[in-house]
Amino acid sequence: MANENITELNVGVVGHIDHGKTTLLAKLTGKFPDTHSEELKRGITIKLGYAEMTISKEGNSYNNKGKGTPVRYISFIDAPGHEMLMATMLSGAAIIDAAILVIAANEGIKPQTAEHFTALQAKKIKNIIIVQNKIDLVNKEQALKNYQDIKQFVKGTIAENSPIIPISAQQEINIDKLIEEIAKIEMPKRDLDSEPIFLIARSFDINRPGTLVEKLHGGILGGILKKGKLKVGDEIEIKPGLSVKKANQQTYQTLTTKILSLHRGSESLKEVNPGASISIETELDPYLTKADSLSGCVVSLKGKLPEISYKMKIKTNLFEEVLGISEHKEVSPLKTKELLMLSVGTTISVGTIEKLSKDEAELSLNIPLVALKGDNVGLARNINSHWRLIGFGEVI
Ligand code: GDP
Ligand code: MG
Repeated sequence: MANENITELNVGVVGHIDHGKTTLLAKLTGKFPDTHSEELKRGITIKLGYAEMTISKEGNSYNNKGKGTPVRYISFIDAPGHEMLMATMLSGAAIIDAAILVIAANEGIKPQTAEHFTALQAKKIKNIIIVQNKIDLVNKEQALKNYQDIKQFVKGTIAENSPIIPISAQQEINIDKLIEEIAKIEMPKRDLDSEPIFLIARSFDINRPGTLVEKLHGGILGGILKKGKLKVGDEIEIKPGLSVKKANQQTYQTLTTKILSLHRGSESLKEVNPGASISIETELDPYLTKADSLSGCVVSLKGKLPEISYKMKIKTNLFEEVLGISEHKEVSPLKTKELLMLSVGTTISVGTIEKLSKDEAELSLNIPLVALKGDNVGLARNINSHWRLIGFGEVI
């Protein structure tokens, strides 16, 4: 039976490739975040990974071994640190409450360290724990130098006073200190009264081939409830929904369905509040949800979502420098007819700038969005055939 009384938090693990994010998560949760075969082959995280841990308290100390009383449930999201996969990282950043920034002590601050850190700041993630990983590979002087570099890096930012914990994920050094810091992260305020907004980060079919029709499970939606409540039996709608080709034109069809069951990790729940990663079993034909086909869509109660839109107006805020590359490059102003990659919630779209004024832009979108006023929009520009983060916007 689910323990409804413990706090729930979504924590993203971010940082440069190979700095040890996936290894750390495996040590914290006892399992490798969900992987698919391409990732195993290449040894890098391509999609967002998911894993969970329950923190228990015994006396004054915290553990992830179930000793004492359970106090907090953590859903982790493992972000890819590869420069090509910034869009995926941004989708992850849209659904987290707090983050662990992993910096390998032997390598220090790298382009994706800075890029991910800026994304966290832009998404207004205040709770950031920094770990100096691979402490087993450096001597005391190098560890101290790395510590000072990190202090300098976060000076004047939201993370100025964040804890910096030296660890070795591989050798399991100081993992207990990290667990204690995670247990102490301040809980964000949850909005339980608004209409629900659930962001789909993945969707799948859990049926094994050959399952009897009467035993088939409905399509599954995985993601985060940003606000409101959802319960078993609710009638829901999913937008933009199903993409269908009609007379050579891509159109979208809102899906409506019913919630059959709700899950958090291996627990089954009757009702969910904003908090952990959850999955929703729906009445949808699992064929419609397989292979992440609905990731990026938004869910609410039937009739509660706005129309999808092929246009978006945003207030823009550009960085001074392009992020994610090692050289320094100024961000040049936006231009009309320029293409931008946009990340809104867990949705990625590409848009053309149709109109520009001082700090506002009107875009036409290739993939329609459910854009809600005040939504944060990551802006990336194609530079030497890579999408690079150049700023953020807000839907107006
Ligand atoms: P990610 O790309 O950030 O997810 O990094 P991985 O977790 O895939 O780790 C990259 C490599 O670093 C792997 O070969 C790990 O075994 C190694 N590694 C991770 N943590 C440590 C550590 O604390 N010490 C040492 N020596 N190696 C580590
Ligand atoms: Mg990884």
